[in-house]
Amino acid sequence: MGRAFVYVILGGGVAAGYAALEFSKRGVSPGELCIISDEPVAPYERPALSKGYLLPGAPARLPSFHTCVGTHEERLTPKWYKEHGIELVLGTRVKSADVRRKTLLTATGETISYKILIIATGARALRLEEFGVNGSDAENVCYLRNIADANRIVDVMKSCPEGNAVVIGGGYIGMECAASLVINKINVSMVFPEEHCMARLFTPKIASFYEDYYNGKGVKFVKGTVLSSFEFDTDGKVTTVILTDGTRLDANMVVVGIGIRPNTSLFEGQLTLEKGGIKVNGLMQTSNSSVYAVGDVAAFPVKLFGETRRLEHVDSARKSARHAVAAILNPEETGEFDYLPFFYSRIFSLSWQFYGDNTGEVVHYGDLSGTKFGAYWVSKGQLVGSFLEGGSKEEYEAIARATRQKSTVENLAELEEQGLGFALAV
Ligand code: FAD
Repeated sequence: MGRAFVYVILGGGVAAGYAALEFSKRGVSPGELCIISDEPVAPYERPALSKGYLLPGAPARLPSFHTCVGTHEERLTPKWYKEHGIELVLGTRVKSADVRRKTLLTATGETISYKILIIATGARALRLEEFGVNGSDAENVCYLRNIADANRIVDVMKSCPEGNAVVIGGGYIGMECAASLVINKINVSMVFPEEHCMARLFTPKIASFYEDYYNGKGVKFVKGTVLSSFEFDTDGKVTTVILTDGTRLDANMVVVGIGIRPNTSLFEGQLTLEKGGIKVNGLMQTSNSSVYAVGDVAAFPVKLFGETRRLEHVDSARKSARHAVAAILNPEETGEFDYLPFFYSRIFSLSWQFYGDNTGEVVHYGDLSGTKFGAYWVSKGQLVGSFLEGGSKEEYEAIARATRQKSTVENLAELEEQGLGFALAV
């Protein structure tokens, strides 16, 4: 049993949706393109899962957040794919790939062949067992990567009104889930080993603003320690979270956000890997010229910083996917991907954006106890990174522009004084 396509996108997440849009804009004939996904639904804007999806009242539900609404473009519903002759092979896991033969084998035993493959398999959530702790299968222990996970969080939240949740991990999944749990009137304790939240990005000063804000919402932080084990009731539900420093926390539910691992396993030994992902060139092409990789799974050259990086952000998934399709369909007109790393988060009524790189010296500006403040990172006399909380569209565009241009910074004290004005003047 088998089918053949000119283009196959493996994975049906954010990158797949934006690639499909780009294919349709540049022209693809009916029957040429197929998307294979183990999720049962058409591609959607994954960031919604930790935000609108978890809200009480009128939560976001499909079809409202199918791609590509995240960038105010057409919403690609299952009907859209049908109308454009793009085959959606959903609920179907690919269990092996042969890049020499240009075939994929699905778990249902079908062989799908391609001329060009775009790998958009994203990443999976790391499990507690990988850190030596058992309990992931308990019914009140939750992860968050897909809709099934989000539905589980919603169900578990509903089963313990005004109960206690322990959030393991202080990254953006932990922070966004904690905010959503609080909005659902669940008491939250956050546990993480670092000295402050969002340790990979935030400075201690930035983190302390958000931690104070969360404290004001009743969130308790237990920092500098990690999960050691769980205690369970006779139904196998977690009742207590025990930390390595001996702290015991009552728990009606646990949400785990301890990082992700790119889904590269189908291609190990067949394609070159780097930074834990599939290495691509500036056209998103892997070490096999018929195979491209985009989104969380791709390690690509970030021209701005002269380095190969793997980014786990939605904007990079959208843009790298579109770039790959441009390179496939219009190779002569497509140059190398020139990407400015961008990441954002929304929590409670707060919202921040970050552009560039958080290396070098940091200069904070604005009112760190108020609602608008930011930071710049300066390396070798150039602006390399910018963070802003509470900015307007124009202000975010200004910090992006100044970072993209690597604006010259002569004096850090002056930069601090100028604050946002520095970027607005660029
Ligand atoms: P994904 O969207 O994960 O898609 C991968 C797809 O491949 C999935 O459909 C998966 O099921 C499928 N797949 C994998 N292996 C196989 C296989 N063998 N066979 C078939 N199908 C397969 N980023 C931000 O910048 N800001 C945010 O606020 C933000 N919030 C987020 C909130 C949540 C809850 C999550 C989980 C992520 C968030 N992100 C955010 C990150 C962003 O969503 C990802 O960077 C983006 O989804 C990556 O897109 P992708 O297409 O590479 O991977």
